[in-house]
Amino acid sequence: MSYLSCNCCNDLIDLNDFNDFYKSISNEQSEILNQFCEKCYYDNQIKFFIKNNYPLPTNIVKKFDTYYILYHNGDIKYECKYNGLKKDGVQILYYPNLNKKEECFYIQDQIEGYHEKWYLSGSLKYKCYYENNIKCGVCIYFSEDGEVLENLPK
Ligand SMILES: [Zn+2]
Repeated sequence: MSYLSCNCCNDLIDLNDFNDFYKSISNEQSEILNQFCEKCYYDNQIKFFIKNNYPLPTNIVKKFDTYYILYHNGDIKYECKYNGLKKDGVQILYYPNLNKKEECFYIQDQIEGYHEKWYLSGSLKYKCYYENNIKCGVCIYFSEDGEVLENLPK
């Protein structure tokens, strides 16, 4: 596997994921795609609208404190609870087949607890534990069959 590092959160991004993601949004207008992981890319989009107090584009919906970014067919692509400009609660990314792609939990913009990623098929791809936005212990990548591929250092 080869990895990039997200310019925003420093997370390692699987190069294959990054290329898929890049292809999926290349048609959308984006001045902020500069080697960001997918979650940071959406965070930045949402924070841009909150910060500037702009009306939300039709693919972004707010219900109570949770923002949703939708696929063209209306299915949820991303959801995250915000408190003002800070992420505060669960953040989930979904595949077009509705399976979870990624999940983590924020307290005041800091990741707390497990950050997990899954394959399109639903099997676990990555797991890493955070305390106060800092990785604790190892971050593990799994193959689609559940084999441990890499134990990445903190
Ligand atoms: Zn990131």
